Amino acid sequence: MPHHSTAPDHRRTLRLRRQQMAIYSYLLVWGGVMLGIEIGYFDPYTPHWWLFGTTLAANGAIFLLIRSGLSERLNDPSLTIPQMMIGIILITALLHYSRELRGGIMAIYFMAMTFGVFALPRQRMMLMALFVIGCFITLEVWEYLDAPESKIISLSIGHFGILAMGLAWFVYVGGHIHNLQQRSNEQRSSLQAQQRHLERVNQQLHDAMARLEEVAIRDSLTGLFNRRHFMERIEEELARSDRHQTPLHLALIDLDHFKQINDTWGHQAGDQVLARFAETARSTLRRADLVARYGGEEFVILFTDGSPEDIRHVLERLRSALSALHFNGRPGFSVTLSAGLASWRPDDTVDSLFQRADDALYRAKETGRNRLVEA
Ligand code: GH3
Ligand code: MG
Ligand code: MG
Repeated sequence: MPHHSTAPDHRRTLRLRRQQMAIYSYLLVWGGVMLGIEIGYFDPYTPHWWLFGTTLAANGAIFLLIRSGLSERLNDPSLTIPQMMIGIILITALLHYSRELRGGIMAIYFMAMTFGVFALPRQRMMLMALFVIGCFITLEVWEYLDAPESKIISLSIGHFGILAMGLAWFVYVGGHIHNLQQRSNEQRSSLQAQQRHLERVNQQLHDAMARLEEVAIRDSLTGLFNRRHFMERIEEELARSDRHQTPLHLALIDLDHFKQINDTWGHQAGDQVLARFAETARSTLRRADLVARYGGEEFVILFTDGSPEDIRHVLERLRSALSALHFNGRPGFSVTLSAGLASWRPDDTVDSLFQRADDALYRAKETGRNRLVEA
């Protein structure tokens, strides 16, 4: 199925798009930081080139890993966790240079967390939240140890509280969103599986219908069309000849002394003769000629084009081909046919056409069999 084989590609495209979004986010934050440095909200010595340069380089490497398909071999091909960790470390570094604006800059942690919502289950989100808290506490403690006099403990605790609350909310709501998304993915793939199943069953049904239709219009012994199908077709063809004045010829064929064949060689030999006749007819006639088993050892052929001479020719070929047939194990045994041919005339009906062909066949039998008589 086509959607099956393209699914990994589709997922890779989604991963690359998420990567792109991450890179744009970094550029946005970088712009903000440069502006912040300009107007004094960040330390003027913030090494922003170094910070964003390494972050973007790391993200570029991840982008290439995904793009080349190398990441498919990893447990998490989208590399969400390393990406988030890179982002969280960057944000922690920015916080260090952020001065009074720290409380606001902390909100950027949630940008990083958002990337996990669609990709990570709740336990992983919890780990990421702990990682954020670990980074933040490390920063605060390190800054305190470095310069205790510049730290306002109550502010640090307040920041920590807000951060912890926000992260807890993210883990809780993010887990919900992740579950919803997971469920809709499962529903989608089960729908796709059902659809594939339906398509398969539909195809089987079509095939079965086609086989049934074939069986319904064929005679099982000879494989030729059956009488019912022939009668439908002759009605159509006659109507067409009426409309367009196109030629139409009907031949009735009856095998000669068939009862004798049955009586001498058995019914099975008779059946074999019927099958051989059908074979001969198929190889002698053109595809457009409609040949059917009319009943017993009687056959009908409808010719929808050609002059009477052409048709005579074809029927003579069929007659001599049949009489020349050899039957295994029965040397000297031969089968002949008699045929009556009638050509369409304006205001003919199916009945009148059949009647003339039947009369001609009767005369063929009367005048010695193994011959063709035209009405
Ligand atoms: P004629 O030359 O006058 O046509 O002689 P005939 O013996 O063919 O005469 P008739 O048409 O009366 O006989 C047809 C015989 O064909 C009668 C029947 O037993 C036999 N027959 C009809 N259907 C089948 C069949 O499906 N298999 C076999 N083996 N014989 C069949
Ligand atoms: Mg007969
Ligand atoms: Mg017969």
